[in-house]
Amino acid sequence: MTLDNLPPLRESLAAGGITAHRRFGQHFLLDLNVCRKIARLAGPLGGELVLEIGPGPGGLTRALLEAGARVIAIEKDERFAPLLGELEAAAGGALTVALGDALALDERVLDVLVWQNASVVANLPYNVGAALLLEWLIGPFRPRAMTLMFQKELAARIVAPPGGRDYGRLSIIVQALCEAKIVLDLPARAFTPPPKVDSSVVQLRARTPRLDDQLTEALQVVGRHAFGQRRKMLRSSLRPLGGESLCVSAGIDPTVRAQDVPVQGYLSLARAWLDHAA
Ligand code: SAM
Repeated sequence: MTLDNLPPLRESLAAGGITAHRRFGQHFLLDLNVCRKIARLAGPLGGELVLEIGPGPGGLTRALLEAGARVIAIEKDERFAPLLGELEAAAGGALTVALGDALALDERVLDVLVWQNASVVANLPYNVGAALLLEWLIGPFRPRAMTLMFQKELAARIVAPPGGRDYGRLSIIVQALCEAKIVLDLPARAFTPPPKVDSSVVQLRARTPRLDDQLTEALQVVGRHAFGQRRKMLRSSLRPLGGESLCVSAGIDPTVRAQDVPVQGYLSLARAWLDHAA
């Protein structure tokens, strides 16, 4: 069997007697044209190493392989092992499937991903999407590029500009570390079974040079305090970190509220807090 003559995804699922399990956040993309579109959005992939989380029936995996990527795919649900084994054999060495939890990746896998400067492309399980994104922002493997499907509401929070309700802690840490934009919206009916909400694909490219780890941690501390009491003025919400004097040192108006401070403002606050603490 080669990639060209694999059975349609629905047939593979039916042959394996596999139905979607909610506890694994399973909503499958069975239209290969949609999968190919996502692979195209991820950019030229020829020869690149791509990490895919949750290949499931393997539609997106097939599209990534067709685009010339080498793929490491991590799947938690063991029911997919035979089906993914078939795909692995058809891929002729370009696909490695590992059964396990993406939140607890083996160190050897992490080393390969770091060493080969891998990117990530995935239709993420909804229940762990935000946790995985955070891991890729501040954990040991920080991909240079990510093309990720999220629930639409989470995607909106990731790319939100200041001034609105969606703008929060997640927006500032993501946008400080990456350029992030929504590149595709997909209605719930594009998935099998359809989820309750629509989805969006977000493309993230790591900013260079990378923020240093101390500043990244400080940014998270400032964000946690500011948005922990988002209706209050910064001079109150940031009181434990220095309140008004911290804002003044950072050149930020102490009377503004968290949602009105741009990412650069949070970076200034984080730097000022590190200076205060030194
Ligand atoms: N990529 C497939 C597609 O687009 O049709 C499936 C996407 S489905 C939204 C999410 C996939 O992630 C499922 O196959 C599910 O079993 C898998 N999954 C859920 N939690 C996981 C975890 N912690 N680690 C690895 N895979 C996980």
